[in-house]
Amino acid sequence: MSEGIALKSVDFRENKRIVTIFTADHGLITVFMASIKTPQRLNLSSPLTRADWQLKPGRNDLWKFLDASILDLHMPIRQDLNRLQTARYLLSQILETQMPHKPAPALYALLRSFLNRLKTTPNPSALRLAFHLKLLLHEGLLSLDPSCATCHANPANHFQTGLFYCPSCKPPRSAALTSDQHEILHNLAITRSFQDLEQIDCKELKDLL
Ligand SMILES: [Zn+2]
Repeated sequence: MSEGIALKSVDFRENKRIVTIFTADHGLITVFMASIKTPQRLNLSSPLTRADWQLKPGRNDLWKFLDASILDLHMPIRQDLNRLQTARYLLSQILETQMPHKPAPALYALLRSFLNRLKTTPNPSALRLAFHLKLLLHEGLLSLDPSCATCHANPANHFQTGLFYCPSCKPPRSAALTSDQHEILHNLAITRSFQDLEQIDCKELKDLL
């Protein structure tokens, strides 16, 4: 039994699906499901569903479905276009960054808590940006060091792909940050409480990330 969240689902021949699941214990795995026309299996194989999965390893890295119980369909997200788009973004970020069978329990817990909060949050864009930055931090792709990544001189106010640079070392396509933008970005990355995150006005970062 392993808890996991369905990220992606592809129809396969008639009545079958191949579902990519992000699990707490095994990272990304791919599951083959047959007879998906029953309501329970349709729901299970639908992206966003969190469930306890009973699986066994099959051939070619494709796991076999034995049984599962649904823990959360995230209905309030499915019923709201803005929340749904934010959730889709979170799921796609996991798909893009995670390797098959590489356990990432902290990241799983992060995704789970963000999806749960997304049901009711008044500020989905803060959650979207915060998740993006926290994922970069988790993968070691974001540095919050205030000094320039190249020469280590201050001030480093140009930003590109997770690193900050001073005006002399900035790469050609980096973006210049105002000190406000710099502070918002930093706060989104490090703030742990959802209540505090939701207070952050991130309109200014819109074109940046
Ligand atoms: Zn520099």
